[in-house]
Amino acid sequence: MSILLKNIISVFSATCYGDISSVIIDHISIDSRSSHNGSNTLFFALIGPNNNAHLYIEELISEGVNNFVVSYIPEGLDDKANFIVVENTLVAFQIFAIYYRGLFDFPVIGITGSNGKTIVKEWLNFLLSPDFNIIRSPKSFNSQVGVPLSVIAINEKHNLGIFEAGISTISEMEKLEPIVKPTIGVLTNIGTSHDEGFENTTQKIAEKLLLFKSSDVLIYKKDERVDALISSKRTTFSWSFDNENVDVFVTETKISNKKTTIFYQFKGGLYEIDIPFEDMASIENAISCLLVLLYMKYDNVTIHSRMELLYPVEMRLEVKNGINNCNLIDDSYSSDFQSLKIALDFLESQNKFQKKTLILSDIFQSGLTDEELYGRVAKLVVANNIQRVIGIGQTISEFKNRFVNCVTYAHTSDFLADFENLDFSNETILVKGARSFEFEEIVAVLEQKKHETVLEINLNALSYNLNFYKAKLKPNIKIMVMVKAFGYGNGGLEIASLLEHHQVDYLGVAFADEGISLKNDGIRLPIMVLNPESTSFSSIIQHQLEPEIYNLRGLNNFLKIAEHKKLKHFPIHIKLDTGMHRLGFERNDILELIQTLKENDAVQVKSILSHMATSDDKVHYEFAKGQIQLFEELSSQMMTELQINPIRHILNTSGISNFPEAQFNMVRLGIGIYGVSNDPEEQKFLENVGTLKSVISQIRTIPAGDSVGYGRRFMAQKETKVATIPIGYADGISRAWGNGIGYVTIKNRKAKILGSVCMDMLMVEVTDVDCIEGDDVIIFGESPTVIEMAHALNTIPYEILTSISQRVKRVFYR
Ligand SMILES: *Cc1c(COP(=O)(O)O)cnc(C)c1O
Repeated sequence: MSILLKNIISVFSATCYGDISSVIIDHISIDSRSSHNGSNTLFFALIGPNNNAHLYIEELISEGVNNFVVSYIPEGLDDKANFIVVENTLVAFQIFAIYYRGLFDFPVIGITGSNGKTIVKEWLNFLLSPDFNIIRSPKSFNSQVGVPLSVIAINEKHNLGIFEAGISTISEMEKLEPIVKPTIGVLTNIGTSHDEGFENTTQKIAEKLLLFKSSDVLIYKKDERVDALISSKRTTFSWSFDNENVDVFVTETKISNKKTTIFYQFKGGLYEIDIPFEDMASIENAISCLLVLLYMKYDNVTIHSRMELLYPVEMRLEVKNGINNCNLIDDSYSSDFQSLKIALDFLESQNKFQKKTLILSDIFQSGLTDEELYGRVAKLVVANNIQRVIGIGQTISEFKNRFVNCVTYAHTSDFLADFENLDFSNETILVKGARSFEFEEIVAVLEQKKHETVLEINLNALSYNLNFYKAKLKPNIKIMVMVKAFGYGNGGLEIASLLEHHQVDYLGVAFADEGISLKNDGIRLPIMVLNPESTSFSSIIQHQLEPEIYNLRGLNNFLKIAEHKKLKHFPIHIKLDTGMHRLGFERNDILELIQTLKENDAVQVKSILSHMATSDDKVHYEFAKGQIQLFEELSSQMMTELQINPIRHILNTSGISNFPEAQFNMVRLGIGIYGVSNDPEEQKFLENVGTLKSVISQIRTIPAGDSVGYGRRFMAQKETKVATIPIGYADGISRAWGNGIGYVTIKNRKAKILGSVCMDMLMVEVTDVDCIEGDDVIIFGESPTVIEMAHALNTIPYEILTSISQRVKRVFYR
């Protein structure tokens, strides 16, 4: 900016003191603390109810500022600087902005509406920035002061403007319109709530539309209420979900996998875009952006490729899970009036619960009298359908009677002391307070305590995988699911319950204890115990578990106890060794086995099984076939001589995939149900079940030459940002996964493990990851997968899964 001061003042009626004939202005300021203030600054001394900038003029002069727009000249300063005296400095400031805007002639997009203004503005900036030098209003500068401030930041390099304008009552927009002077108008949406600043919705819409008084086009979602207010001559560019009589007809929105595909008709063609959001507000905001791009004649290929990269606009508002099923919106770091409006907008968009509570501290620096301020806050509260207000602070307490259903406390500590008496459940709570009120303590009591490290188990994925394998079975083939080792590390009871729900035929565990605990927890499915010790036979019988019997010594021991207990036909499972050479009767044992069973009716052979050593490896295909053949032979011999018809089974997960001819009467499904296959082709069809998650405890940046962790095994070659995560080898993360071999995922980016994995912690590099302390970390799940980890660690996924220590809490979800 470089303007002769005399040209500036010619636009408003003013009286001038001082010689300004050749003064050049290169900076406009309303902030006495700005470091940009200097001799070529023109300072507008605004007057607010709590703040009068005239009081800082003397100080500013001492700092070298020489030109002031004032409503009066402070005493004793008459000849110390140039003064331009006007009636109202805010009006003069706005008039100056109008004049300044007039110096530039490029397209300007003006945005207003009830919700989504900031998001649409930020997204348009993102979508258009490859092609334009854009000036846009900062975060939420959409008010009577914010809009002119945004506009005077335009400079010669800009060739496109994007500004938002917000209003809370009538006659505000007509002041903002000439300042923004949009050539392209975007109306985001009209909230359903009856805004208290207006007599009715029509008045509210009419006021908003004033922003587009002289724009070339109005872009909006077709709406009768809007149509009733615009002239038929007005150029519009509209869209709709249900009215075909528009420029862009959205025929369908399809949500899948955290993204939405939007199908639309435009000029006779049918097109689609993908956006990485699922919620309605984002979809509508994205469509608003789409219309701007179409209006600006972008082709669909460009539109498609840019729209799919849209990102969440950080509103400083964080949604958290609260106690008693509440939703918590954490905005505990600010409390100006403008951001309150944004937060309430956001609260309104959260429609999970009808019930809404606002916890609000005193508001500072509003530029309004307290009387006015809390009056406006009260209106906003009604307009946004907030049922309960909890005010904290001495000032807001004085205005308690402005609100319906309101309690107040003088201090945060008073609220905390009374916390037990307040009811918070099934509602959305907005916590909004100035820094000094330390509302983070309130968030802490309202937030559901989350465990730092958890193994999240997706039960839907488990069901899905079960069905995948079931589909491979011939009709009437039974299914036993192995839930040994705590469901392969995923959780015993929850998974057993799910399997019971799916009506599998059997569960398999390794030891009696595992079976006993499932029975004690109410599981009714029959449970086979793979390696029962003789000492556990009594409790196996007592808990109606079914032992696998694999040698004569075990059989005789079991029979002794069974006879003693006078049992008849107690179910047992006979294991044959056909080549695995782990457990089982061999060919040489068969005759004695048959003889012993013939002489006894205390037990009944419920099933005969064997286990394959190489079902996952095609190299040993012939060996595997031999095992199956031997199993067929030995089991047939038993069946013939004993005249029994037991269930026969030999296949584990990879057996199911590779030897469909050997299903006999039952299969034993293990790792597959937990989402792991040894076949990469088959793997694609399985869903990930377990995600091991943690959080970032601390972040630091270390200079080149510093080291990380024990033994200084990571030496930083450059400045490195390091995050510490509270999970270590005691939780089951192998030390071999450290030292640059392994990684975790943070914000969808890989973060390499630096140095050695410690007992309870590990450190990762986050130099290029945009993350903060407390952010989620994925140790394994979609990326890295346990398969990938197993590969790098020279082991198998089974070991990774079952190594996760029991101190890691398991969380199940659907
Ligand atoms: C663990 C186990 C299974 C299941 O094996 P997966 O490879 O996980 O499918 C089947 N049978 C026996 C005897 C087992 O020990």
